[in-house]
Amino acid sequence: MTPATPRARCPPEGIQLYIRISMVGEGTYGKVYKARNRETGQVVALKRMRIDLDREGFPITAMREIRLLKQLQHPNITQVLDVVPESGNAVYVVMEYMDYDLSGLISHPQWNPDPAHKKSLVHQLLNGLEFMHAHGILHRDIKGSNLLVNQQGQVKYVDFGLARSFHHTRMQEFTNRVITLWYRPPELLLGTTVYGPEVDIWSLGCVLLELYLKRPAFQGQNDIDQLEQIFKLLGTPSPEVWESFKKLPWACYMTPSTRYENGLQAALTSKMSLGAVELISLMLSLDPKARPSAAQCLGHRFFAEEPAPVPPTTFPVTGDWHEYESKIERRKRKQAAKSQHQRRSSGTIN
Ligand code: ADP
Ligand code: MG
Repeated sequence: MTPATPRARCPPEGIQLYIRISMVGEGTYGKVYKARNRETGQVVALKRMRIDLDREGFPITAMREIRLLKQLQHPNITQVLDVVPESGNAVYVVMEYMDYDLSGLISHPQWNPDPAHKKSLVHQLLNGLEFMHAHGILHRDIKGSNLLVNQQGQVKYVDFGLARSFHHTRMQEFTNRVITLWYRPPELLLGTTVYGPEVDIWSLGCVLLELYLKRPAFQGQNDIDQLEQIFKLLGTPSPEVWESFKKLPWACYMTPSTRYENGLQAALTSKMSLGAVELISLMLSLDPKARPSAAQCLGHRFFAEEPAPVPPTTFPVTGDWHEYESKIERRKRKQAAKSQHQRRSSGTIN
């Protein structure tokens, strides 16, 4: 009798190679999962992207995001490890796994990083942005949930779904309906369609302010309210601070009737060093032309003053903590408070 030949073990292929652990994000295009590679044990992130075909039948949006992420190899930009097609109309982008996002961390009541840790995050964020802009890419959706953090204290940009190439020497026309409202610069709210890297500098300025204040700086309900909140803190623009303001398409409809003075420096000096106040104030210049480039920000005196930057390595949660988990937690707390309130009020009736 011939001995049975051992059956060759088929290595898992495609998406079967990964075992899902949990969901960590749910966004515009699809879901993001924490997963493990069955062969190597490596923990990864899987972003499932629907493929919407354009008129020519080409999956332009998903392809653009994947191409940009693959092209931008930098320690402060999330690395793509693989792209796995799913049967039907989706692909999985396999990325290095990041434990937290900045939105989740900032909203965590027990996360209070030291000035040196904050400085490291600011420095890394500017480094990543400088690299992106030097490679002719605008991100156009910078906000806490698109900035990932790992347990080594590295911070990395993700979500290039709205990113576009730009020319360094020639201003181009784009849509102004980009960038999440709270991080959208005043010139876009006022209808400009000709812009460049200074829009990302504004958004990052808002994120840095949020890092120090522990809450989003401008939380507008709509475009007009957003602009009102910006002017309330930074002052209503005058020709001296923003010469071309009146030429913007919607300036005459959207200028607030109340005149506000710039109160940013006064509001911030008790919360951060003078260098940090100065850097954030420059990044949040109302006039886009007055905003420094990412390279200029990196040369700011804030980075020369004490303390030296140190990456944060202690976090309030050992597991994952993204905007997704923090929203679930907030919903649970609200629900618990509501049921407690209901229990109390039914107790008084009985
Ligand atoms: P969307 O375009 O849907 O906003 P994102 O790429 O921003 O998609 O992903 C949604 C969320 O998933 C992010 O805000 C983040 O919390 C989480 N996430 C994305 N990529 C990773 C990753 N590589 N590691 C860990 N979490 C991630
Ligand atoms: Mg996102």
